[in-house]
Amino acid sequence: MLKSVVYVHSEAILSQMRKLDIIENRSQIVHELIKSYGLLNYCQVIAPQKCSYEDLRSFHSADYVDCLKQYTTSQEISYEQFGLEYDCLPFEEIYDFVTTVAGSTLAAVDAIINGASIAINWNGGWHHAQRDKAAGFSYVNDIVIAIHRLRTKFQKVLYLDLDIHHGDGVEHAFNFSKYVMTISFHQYEPGFYPGTGAVSDIGFGNGRGYTINAPYSRYISSAAFVAYFRQIVSAAFETFQPQVCVMQCGADVIVGDRLGGSNLLPEDCIEAMKEIFTWNIPITFLGGGGYNNINTAKYWTQLTASILGVTIPRDIPENNFFLLYGPDYVLDIYRANTQDENLQHDLLKNASIIKENLNRYVLNVLITR
Ligand SMILES: [Zn+2]
Repeated sequence: MLKSVVYVHSEAILSQMRKLDIIENRSQIVHELIKSYGLLNYCQVIAPQKCSYEDLRSFHSADYVDCLKQYTTSQEISYEQFGLEYDCLPFEEIYDFVTTVAGSTLAAVDAIINGASIAINWNGGWHHAQRDKAAGFSYVNDIVIAIHRLRTKFQKVLYLDLDIHHGDGVEHAFNFSKYVMTISFHQYEPGFYPGTGAVSDIGFGNGRGYTINAPYSRYISSAAFVAYFRQIVSAAFETFQPQVCVMQCGADVIVGDRLGGSNLLPEDCIEAMKEIFTWNIPITFLGGGGYNNINTAKYWTQLTASILGVTIPRDIPENNFFLLYGPDYVLDIYRANTQDENLQHDLLKNASIIKENLNRYVLNVLITR
């Protein structure tokens, strides 16, 4: 019998994640902090398997998966057509890496399918990968593959994306679906990656209204974000009535991220999510971006504690990376002295457009069904 909270971890996944240059040893730092707080005593720790070729094919094209599988440095193929360049350079044994990453998120949702109420995989959440293309440090879209797996048991899936970047890969995968609602909160301004996710992008065909984009401007701060997030998410939850939820909790949404731009603390995001912890549906929590390794560890550790309902002390316990937490050696992260560029009027307007769309498209479908 599974304990109700499952935490996905293995040495194999930590060593695979080290291949991602941009995050270096982030996975290990995160895991060590969670472990040093004793939080694993409250979880069932499960080791993932690599996923199969067919699992990858449940979203990705044969050409792309074959390219990953056959990759060698000696071959002369134009890998650029598959996005394997710049921030997604291919590397030796990349197929082992992608099957391990996707396998870890499949292990999380398999636990949900088998009755767990919460599953946590901080190594998952690579939301930018497209059907036939790597993008934004995401080689395969473990999230889309996992949602396909969840759909074998659950009809209606809610996907919630808090990463500071638009969850474009997941959104595109389910653009036409009324069974998977995607909600992405993200910074949105010229030049900020990936540049998509306007409030007017709401999906197509039968899926019209089931794609939700909640953009914001830079330096978003606590009060603005928490209110924005809560009203949109609770309206979507009540209207859509999902049976299961997948959350991408990219830590680049926290202040001090080198690819980010917010002024949010872990406490703000956890405060925003409070209502979610009371939902009576299974939830899978995934990682994602997060390019300040220490802040990422602090965020995901506090989030793990909140998910478990455990209060932890502010002082960082002894662990293998303890010295990196100096000079204060506490969980606290400090706000930047920046002016929030969001106008309350703009956020309220976005929220009201989103609520109108929910009423127009999502509610009607339920009534007329
Ligand atoms: Zn990101």
